[in-house]
Amino acid sequence: MNKWHKFDLTSFDQKRTDKAKILEDKIWVPCRICRDMFARLRLTERFCGSCERAFCEGEHGSFTGRNIGICVRCYNKTAMEMRVTKSN
Ligand SMILES: [Zn+2]
Ligand SMILES: [Zn+2]
Repeated sequence: MNKWHKFDLTSFDQKRTDKAKILEDKIWVPCRICRDMFARLRLTERFCGSCERAFCEGEHGSFTGRNIGICVRCYNKTAMEMRVTKSN
């Protein structure tokens, strides 16, 4: 097996999410948060189970097992929603 991974540097595609690219095509994609916020390229094989966008493990998301993780964007959104629900 080739130790060099294939990768896809195109921007996020709703019709072909990072989840599909990583799981089905076995290719690495750039962390969308690094790309959007810092214009930095960091390839990853982790993706968010919620928005299906790729994230770099540790800095922009956390890996919970079985390839499914949550990115900081969705994590913050969930935390905020929980706070709103609680105050109601
Ligand atoms: Zn990142
Ligand atoms: Zn997400």
